[in-house]
Amino acid sequence: MQLLLTLQDVSYAYHNLKGETPALSHISFEVSQGEFLAIVGPSGCGKSTLLSIIAGLLTPEEGDLFYKGQYITDCDRSDIVRIGYMLQRDHLFEWRTIYQNVILGLELNHTLNQENRDYVLQLLKDYDLYAFKDKKPSELSGGMRQRAALIRTMAIHPDLLLLDEPFSALDSQTRLNVSADIAQIIRQTNKTAILITHDLSEAITLADRVLVLSKRPACIKCEMPIHFSVDRQDPMEVRNTAEYQLYFNQLWEVLTNEQSIVPSA
Ligand code: ADP
Ligand code: MG
Repeated sequence: MQLLLTLQDVSYAYHNLKGETPALSHISFEVSQGEFLAIVGPSGCGKSTLLSIIAGLLTPEEGDLFYKGQYITDCDRSDIVRIGYMLQRDHLFEWRTIYQNVILGLELNHTLNQENRDYVLQLLKDYDLYAFKDKKPSELSGGMRQRAALIRTMAIHPDLLLLDEPFSALDSQTRLNVSADIAQIIRQTNKTAILITHDLSEAITLADRVLVLSKRPACIKCEMPIHFSVDRQDPMEVRNTAEYQLYFNQLWEVLTNEQSIVPSA
């Protein structure tokens, strides 16, 4: 598989009047095209900082970033890779309809042509939101809003999806279904995705590989490829397998034990 992203020895600290807050310490990993990577770590450990560096919103203090093998010197990487960023809150605008919301990225990029309009309408049909396209966000459930936010992200044809705890605002039952739906959509369209979560179950159920980060400043404690013999479509079926239990126990041990660092699998 072709490499999409490489991080080499990336470190970052925030500096302000109160002093220095080290957030990332010597982070190195790779993501291949079409891969679904989950990154888990305790709250405040540096997960969003890591995603901001990957997106080019922050520049690493130390270390290097490569997209498709090309060294990235500054924040702008748009000529090599198109990045879609989805956040915890759906950030839909109440004064716009669902359709007007999902075309927003295309409007901002000046790429709202007939082909892209048709693509967005198709996505609305695929994700069961077509009947709601003229509604306002407040008329939709939390899960539907999150699907609308995903369509807005997908509409710009991203090469890489960055998902920063996108399901945390949902109640646990909705979360299970919406996260499975969204993972299915990402797999079907063969998108490359990095999902940040503090929920280990979610990471194991959805991803091809899980990275576990330490407390701040985050370093990589463990990297584990995930394989299941059952279909991933049904999250409950996945969670009932012996494989799931094994992954969970191993990763939980790493996540909660300050000492344990497992070599890459
Ligand atoms: P996570 O997403 O894992 O919860 P973050 O990456 O948001 O963690 O933050 C990592 C650490 O850096 C936290 O301790 C946070 O308080 C600190 N931090 C985040 N943003 C800033 C900032 N702009 N200035 C100073 N410190 C920050
Ligand atoms: Mg965060």
